Order: sequence, then structure tokens, then C-alpha cells
Amino acid sequence: MISKLSQNIQPSSTLEITAKANQLKAEGIDVIGFGAGEPDFITPIEIREAAKNAIDNGFTKYTPASGLMSLRQIIANKLKKENNLEYNANQIVVSNGAKHSLINAFSAILDLGDEVIIPAPFWLSYPEMVKIVHGVPKYVYTKKENRFKLQPSEFKKAISNKTKAIVLNSPSNPTGVIYTAEELKALGDIAVENNIWIISDEIYEYLVYENNEHISMASLSKEIYDHTITINGISKAYAMTGWRIGYLAAPLEVAKAAGNIQSHATSNPNSIAQKASEFAIEHGGNFIKEMVQTFSKRRDCLYEGLKQIEGFEVVKPDGAFYCFVDIKELYGKKYKDQAINSASIFAKLLLEDYSVAVVPCKDFEAPSCIRLSYTINEESITKGLNRIQEFINELV
Ligand code: PMP
Ligand code: GLU
Repeated sequence: MISKLSQNIQPSSTLEITAKANQLKAEGIDVIGFGAGEPDFITPIEIREAAKNAIDNGFTKYTPASGLMSLRQIIANKLKKENNLEYNANQIVVSNGAKHSLINAFSAILDLGDEVIIPAPFWLSYPEMVKIVHGVPKYVYTKKENRFKLQPSEFKKAISNKTKAIVLNSPSNPTGVIYTAEELKALGDIAVENNIWIISDEIYEYLVYENNEHISMASLSKEIYDHTITINGISKAYAMTGWRIGYLAAPLEVAKAAGNIQSHATSNPNSIAQKASEFAIEHGGNFIKEMVQTFSKRRDCLYEGLKQIEGFEVVKPDGAFYCFVDIKELYGKKYKDQAINSASIFAKLLLEDYSVAVVPCKDFEAPSCIRLSYTINEESITKGLNRIQEFINELV
């Protein structure tokens, strides 16, 4: 029989929904996919060339477990220049995607039964990751009127003598909101006072719109730095989701522990992908600029369109590439005799009858909400919006 622990782990529904939409597309159905949380662009040619060069140069062996020193140095330089963070290369561990970095981080700091505070709604993998390493996720439900940002008083209230860490994700998946420096500092100071680790997931750092600004938690004070594990990666920044490279930057003892764990779990991240990542981080700036401009236009198109739909309450995204919509007002309505009483039913019917894939946010602890990624072109966004409207028109 499989373990109790693994019985308690849910599959990633974001990956499942994306797979389902792709399968329908492969069957020739014209699906509009607002599900996938990944850029629709292909990795820039120069980065792909860097990987080819690595292969041609025979760069095919194991690397140090925590990643190439040269890559870790490039990451340290990036963090200093762009994020105002002073890390030495040996405080950085490169892993197989930011997901892996998160698991390493939790493994490095949690003992059996330790609690991790996760503000809800959250990206669905955090609680499962905490459970995988025998920790206990503790949800704190943020409020719509606070734009789903955790308030200092809510954080304080959630702390127990078992609290070991808090997860913060800005820009946020799924809400797209960004914490200001003041808001982060207030939360960071509470973490310091209570000797709690902050896992700061900054994977969407470049995807920031209008006058919003991304701030790195660990840059806010020496004490906060000492309590923070910064998580980042190349998946979203350079359209490199399939290459599987992410990293953590942390106080040395954490980086060492994470590196030790990784040395047994996977040896090292892929050598060729590491070489491509070196090139991406050093030379990928222009690509990011263009991508952000494109996402910014799509965001306006999707956000403005969703706002027009009756029964939708939409959060204006400051960053990332998601629109978060509460559909609760539609509860009580019916579609062909089926009651709309959850976002899951809504999303199921929308996909089945109108070929539009959205993510129902039950696993994000927001069962009346859906998430739409604007990782498709504007024409498809408009088409998708029209179909959603047609579906809503059928509700009685
Ligand atoms: N954090 C958040 C908030 C995410 O949305 C994702 C995307 N899957 C990740 C981390 C992990 O990204 P990756 O493993 O592709 O680096
Ligand atoms: N982070 C993306 C999402 O939320 C990719 C899928 C996943 O890893 O969950 O959709």
C-alpha cells in the first residue's frame, strides 16, 4: 500500500487542465486556453544557440550538485544589480525549476509537524510541497477589500509556537497583486520578531505593469535578509519553462543544507540547461522587455473585457500573467438544468460546451473563483471573451 503521506497529496490541477486543453486541441477542437501558467513564446534563439554550443563543446558531465559556480556567480551578480541583494555564489543553489528550489527550501528548514503560514488564495503547489516534507500548511484567508494581500494583524494572529515559515509570492499567482515595499517590510518585521523564515517566491518579478514595482523581501533590512529564502528561476522570465532551472538564495546554512539534500536527490540540474541559463540571465534583458510589453497589452485586453461581463468580479492585476475572477454572483443560476454552485462546475461547463479552458481555483483555496492566464494572443483573448459572454447569456 502507498504511504499515508502520498495519499494526502493532490495532483497539480493546473498541469491537468493545461494537459486537457492541449489534448482537445490535438483532437482538432478550437480550444481557447486561459489555463496554462506559462509564456506562449518559444525560448529566444540566442539562448537555444547557447545550449547547442554547450552540447557541441561536450558539456555533458555532472556539474557541482548546487550548480555551476559560474552560473551561481552570474545569479549573484543579477541579484545585486537588479534586486539590491548581496549574496555570495555559495549562498545560491540552482535546481530543476523553482518548484524544486521550493521543495529544497522546505526540506532544509522544516521538521515533522512544523507549520508554514500560506496566505490564501495561493499557488496550489505550496501546501502540497509542505506536506511532502512532513510540514503542516496553515492557511490565512486574505480579504477581497485588501486586494487579497495579507495584513500584518492577520499574520500575527496566525502565528503559533509551531510556526516555522511563511510563504509570500509577489507578484502573485493567482491574483496578480504586488506588495509594496512598506507592506513587505511590515510583514518581514513580524517574521523577524517571531523568528520565522520567509519564503519569498519572486518568480514573476519581471512581469510588472504600469507604475508597479517589484521589491525583493530580503533587500528590506539585514534582519529580514537573515530570515529570508529568495526563490526565483528562468521559466517565466525567458520563456524557458521546459528547461527546468530555478534557484534559491539564502543564508549560508540554508543554502548548504539545500545543496546537501539536492546532492542525493538529483545530483545536479541539467548541465546544458545551466549553460543556457547563464546566457539568458546575462543577455536576455531585451527579450524580457518585449515580452512584458506584449503581456501588458494582453492584460488590458483581458481585464477590460472581463470587467464588462455581468456577474464577474475581477481583480486588477498589477503583475504576473493572470486575471483572478470571483463568479459567486452567478451562484443560483442554471445552465441546461445544472446549477452553478462552484467555480469548478462553471469551468467544466465552459470547457465542455464553449471550448474555453479556465482554472477553477478550488485548489488555490478560492472555490468561487477562476483564474485566466493571458498567455495567448489578443485575438484569442477576444474570441475567448466572446465565448464566455455567450455562455453567461445562456444562464437562467
Ligand atoms: N512559483 C509560482 C508562483 C509559480 O506559478 C510557478 C509556476 N509553475 C513556480 C513557482 C515554479 O516554476 P518553475 O518550476 O517552472 O521554475
Ligand atoms: N505555475 C503555473 C500555473 O500556475 C504552471 C503550472 C504549475 O506548475 O502549476 O499554472
